[in-house]
Amino acid sequence: MNDRPLLLATRSADKLREIRQILADHPSLRVIGLDEAGVEETPEEEGIECFETFEENSLAKARYYAARSGLPTLADDSGLCVDALDGAPGVYSKRFAGRPDLKGGGLDRANNALLLEKLSGVPEAERTARYVCVVALALGDGEEHTFRGTCEGVILLTERGVGGFGYDPLFYIPEEDATFGELPPERKNALSHRGRAIRAAGNWMARGLDESGYGL
Ligand code: IMP
Repeated sequence: MNDRPLLLATRSADKLREIRQILADHPSLRVIGLDEAGVEETPEEEGIECFETFEENSLAKARYYAARSGLPTLADDSGLCVDALDGAPGVYSKRFAGRPDLKGGGLDRANNALLLEKLSGVPEAERTARYVCVVALALGDGEEHTFRGTCEGVILLTERGVGGFGYDPLFYIPEEDATFGELPPERKNALSHRGRAIRAAGNWMARGLDESGYGL
């Protein structure tokens, strides 16, 4: 086994921390972010996730950063798919409200307000939705894999809880009688789309390392 790190295609310290936590069962995987890997930010990065599916977007991102870094690279793309909206906002979850001027909490509030507006009058039984996350792994030699995780829920009429981010205060999980905004982070990681997809990727990579050390 060699000790090449695994590059995680993100500049977000929160996402890096969350994914390291999810991969903690696999100490052989040394995960580093784009900044730690010395991959400088460029304007072209903005346009990478321009496709219609989570698979295409995550693969494009993993491929791009694997080429720039020379490292095996893991990238994710995720979003919320609402049945009554024919799967919207989906890959457009971040840009749903069309407010590129907003970030963080301001952007979340605009997206959540639009979601509630579009679902006004839709009864509870028809407010089903799922978070989807696809994690892509580009090994740099043309070998690529994707791993999909989903989490089923219902969109509430009003927000509950202040944890998480994005659509979390509206995303209710009946089995937990709680929204993602109300659950502690460890519980969200155990159930979430991202947790499931990252664990599937982690298990696959750890198996590869044990069996052959295929280049990570
Ligand atoms: P990303 O691909 O992880 O950057 O997620 C894209 C967008 O999907 C985010 O900006 C959120 O709007 C939404 N989203 C993805 N995952 C979550 C989540 O776990 N909670 C809340 N919103 C999420």
